[in-house]
Amino acid sequence: MADKKNNKNNNRNNMDDDFNPRYRKIRKKVCPLCADKNLVLDYKNPDQLRKFISEKGKISPRRVTGACAKHQRDITLAVKRCRQIAMLPYTQG
Ligand SMILES: [Zn+2]
Repeated sequence: MADKKNNKNNNRNNMDDDFNPRYRKIRKKVCPLCADKNLVLDYKNPDQLRKFISEKGKISPRRVTGACAKHQRDITLAVKRCRQIAMLPYTQG
């Protein structure tokens, strides 16, 4: 019992701990476009852009895509262009 209590306190004070109920796993996301230099966004390629939109057709936020600010802007632009030429939906479902 006393041991359990000690463990709990340790977890709370140590953010590097693997198991921490408050902070879960802190894993740094790597921007998919920075990671793969050969990957170039193309607004004429809806299959490639589909990864960055939700089921409803909305553009996923950075916390989901993991993209850096620069590439998230590129993604947004590409998706919007793709919608304009009717290769991606504005809305779905
Ligand atoms: Zn990036």
